Amino acid sequence: GKAELECDMLVLGAGPGGYSAAFRAADLGMKTVLVERYDKLGGVCLNVGCIPSKALLHTASVIDEVKHLPDHGITFGAPQVDLDKLRGFKDGVIKKLTGGLAGMAKARKVEVVTGVGGFLDPHHLEVVSASGKKTIRFAKAIIAAGSQAVKLPFLPDDPRIVDSTGALLLESIPKRMLVIGGGIIGLEMATVYSTLGARIDVVEMLDGLMQGADRDLVKVWEKLNARRFDKVMLKTKTVGAKATDAGIEVRFEGEQAPAGPQLYDLVLAAVGRSPNGKNIGAEKAGIAVTDRGFINVDRQMRTNVPHIHAIGDIVGQPMLAHKAVHEGHVAAEVAHGEKAYFDARQIPSVAYTDPEVAWAGKTEDQCKAEGIKFGKSVFPWAASGRAIANGRDEGFTKLLFDTATDRVIGGGIVGTHAGDLISEICLAVEMGCEPADIGKTIHPHPTLGESIGMAAEVFEGHCTDLP
Ligand code: FAD
Repeated sequence: GKAELECDMLVLGAGPGGYSAAFRAADLGMKTVLVERYDKLGGVCLNVGCIPSKALLHTASVIDEVKHLPDHGITFGAPQVDLDKLRGFKDGVIKKLTGGLAGMAKARKVEVVTGVGGFLDPHHLEVVSASGKKTIRFAKAIIAAGSQAVKLPFLPDDPRIVDSTGALLLESIPKRMLVIGGGIIGLEMATVYSTLGARIDVVEMLDGLMQGADRDLVKVWEKLNARRFDKVMLKTKTVGAKATDAGIEVRFEGEQAPAGPQLYDLVLAAVGRSPNGKNIGAEKAGIAVTDRGFINVDRQMRTNVPHIHAIGDIVGQPMLAHKAVHEGHVAAEVAHGEKAYFDARQIPSVAYTDPEVAWAGKTEDQCKAEGIKFGKSVFPWAASGRAIANGRDEGFTKLLFDTATDRVIGGGIVGTHAGDLISEICLAVEMGCEPADIGKTIHPHPTLGESIGMAAEVFEGHCTDLP
């Protein structure tokens, strides 16, 4: 049939990858259509990911900070939690941001089409919604259909068993909660729920929490969170669950499995995310999708079909919003005819836990695996005036240098606000800074950010006189 809509650029999915790509394409002068299943823009990140989790983590961190105040001679009573209001705060944050996106799309004349999109052929996409079907003819396309939470097949269908989306609904605070998966998402939700009063067990198949981060960083977090959890079961698998009136009865197997089944009021499965590549009719456009549902792309974010790009969670790890945004910009620019490449030297990771753990560039583990000879320099926050004044001097800042080139190749920070602090290390890695570039840069005193300058100075063998 005749296409109802024609455009230069079709973007499928309005998460951080998709909206960034659509906005860039429109700014470059392309007539752009953005297709999204839900009536809110922003994808996982804004609606059920980064943003709502950070709103709740902010609340949790204030409660946790207050717990340190008795040391300063200040005491409060136990927090009174009004879940409806807290949920309202979180939903208000989301609304502000998704509303902002809608305004930005409108200002750029990006046409938003609401409905489920599927390719019909290499130049047509069909959008199905409650109000009917629409066909869009496009010259170029960017797939940004994202990912969804992995489901564990043996978990029964029960409202007391949730994924991160369910956990963010914050329907109640359970007495006992199990978090399956000790990655960033699981530990962030565990932080929120435990601060709000839940007793939590964490189970992780691998031999450590927060995989991907260097163990020295994680160790500091572990020490400070030892009392937050009832049990952390490593090298242990969840093998079955039964819904009973008393709760969800969960069975474990492995090195640290408890003797018998355990009873929980809420179970959060946070065992990873799987890409949506199999749900978009990719085969009809000739786009290759892997068995797991990923779409492979080159450094210009092109799929095997040269006029169709893919970006974000659907193209692979790390599944992070800032990666999706940068890939989206590259894809839009390439589609517009520019010589752009995704060529990042580093993609930072942050666990917004208490304390935060952040890392960028190469980790020590990666250097060792890749045979890179590296130097390391650590500045302990116990020597930071600001960290001490904050009453939070646990933590450290670490820089890694390539000994052959003397350049900064990575770094990590554990401590309060580590996620905000890591950006300087990101820039240093991207620019190929030498230690002196950072060490001789005057940082404001007294700040936590100073610890990065100090770490560089420590590396140069200059002892600092400023605590
Ligand atoms: P998505 O955000 O997944 O968006 C894809 C969009 O496509 C969705 O809106 C979906 O509805 C739509 N779509 C899919 N298929 C179709 C179709 N056929 N038709 C129409 N529309 C379709 N990342 C960070 O960087 N920092 C964080 O702090 C962080 N916290 C997180 C916390 C949680 C709880 C979760 C779950 C994730 C978090 N992430 C975080 C990851 C981040 O959310 C993702 O990396 C990011 O959203 C990926 O963006 P994307 O554009 O690739 O896809």
